[in-house]
Amino acid sequence: MPCLFCAIARKEIPAEVIYEDTRAVAFLDIHPRALGHTLVIPRTHAATLTELSEDETAPLFEAVRRVTEKISRALRPDGFTIGVNHGSVSGQEVDHLHVHILPRFAGDGGGSVQTLVNKPSKQPIAEVAKTIRIHT
Ligand code: AMP
Ligand code: ZN
Repeated sequence: MPCLFCAIARKEIPAEVIYEDTRAVAFLDIHPRALGHTLVIPRTHAATLTELSEDETAPLFEAVRRVTEKISRALRPDGFTIGVNHGSVSGQEVDHLHVHILPRFAGDGGGSVQTLVNKPSKQPIAEVAKTIRIHT
C-alpha cells in the first residue's frame, strides 16, 4: 500500500507544511489535539525509529528542535510534549515514523508522558537493567 506520509513528503498529497529541509518535513496534524500540533517526518521511509538509518536520525531530531523553536516563537505555548507512537500497541496508526510536537498551554488538562501507562514489572529495576545491558 502506498505510504501517506511519503506522499506528503513528495508533495503528492497536500499538507500544511511549516518547515522542510533536505532530510525532514514538518506539517500540521490534520486532527490537531492542540493549537499547532505538528508532525515531523524523515523524507526517507522508515516505519519506526529502530528502522531509521543511523545517518537519518540526527537530521530528524535537529528538525524537531528547529520546529519546536519555530512554534514556540509563533504561538508562545507554555511548553511542549514531544513524542512518538512507536508500534501499533502504542497507538501508531501511520506506518511512517513521525514525531508529534504538541504545544502545551497552562490549564489544557493534558497529562505527562508517564501518565500514558502504569503497568510496571515486579522485577527489580537492577535486574531489568542487567537484562538490557547484555544485549547489543
Ligand atoms: P499516530 O497515531 O501516531 O500514527 O498518528 C497519526 C497522526 O497522523 C494522527 O494524529 C492523524 O491525525 C495524523 N494524520 C493522518 N493523516 C494525515 C494527513 N493527511 N495530514 C496530516 N496529518 C494526518
Ligand atoms: Zn513512508
